[in-house]
Amino acid sequence: MAEYDRLRDHMVDVQLAGRGIRDKRVLEAMRTVPRERFVREGLEEFAYEDSALPIEEEQTISQPYIVAAMIEAAEVEPDDRVLEVGAGSGYAAAVLGRIARRVFAIERHPALASLARERIAALGYANVEIRAGDGTRGLEQEAPFDAILVAAGAPEVPNALKRQLAMGGRLVIPVGDTGKQKLCKVTRTGETRFDVENLATVMFVPLIGEEGWQENR
Ligand code: SAM
Repeated sequence: MAEYDRLRDHMVDVQLAGRGIRDKRVLEAMRTVPRERFVREGLEEFAYEDSALPIEEEQTISQPYIVAAMIEAAEVEPDDRVLEVGAGSGYAAAVLGRIARRVFAIERHPALASLARERIAALGYANVEIRAGDGTRGLEQEAPFDAILVAAGAPEVPNALKRQLAMGGRLVIPVGDTGKQKLCKVTRTGETRFDVENLATVMFVPLIGEEGWQENR
């Protein structure tokens, strides 16, 4: 346990702060959430490596740096309601839950959603709710959201997610082909007005669903 705490501190200092993550809330949250509880059984010793790792259903838990960079870009604040699309292991949702008031996370693989739900319940993170379903449609009944983070690569920004942003809300999403994408930040500035910024080039698994790629890709 103490060994994981040491590795986690090292990850935050070297991989995150050392590479320019400045948001204190993000650094603090990632110093707290035990990533070793979100990786596949047997891979715990690699939990604090500077990389994505395989999880069940042939998906991945994202590299710690990209989790931090996306949350920092989304400017998540303590009073925020947040939606994450692509909950995967539940790790990023857990980190978001240490920063924001309420977090909803959607995962298309029911088996991943239930594992993520179990991990989050075991840690007692009561403000984080994991749902199974197609996140390209957002979560209409819980909208609007101050921040939406999408952890899979989309062909275009789904309209449903733009519509579910609060005024001033931020959507951070990889957009491009299935090989590599541009990480985009979309800020809602009016009823039908959105500012778009390109932040970086990234590589994510595909976002599959109604406003994403088709299932057989
Ligand atoms: N945030 C995750 C974590 O912390 O472990 C990593 C997510 S992984 C890179 C991307 C996830 O998006 C996969 O688990 C995949 O099944 C999921 N996904 C893809 N399309 C989706 C969709 N339309 N709705 C919800 N989840 C989706």
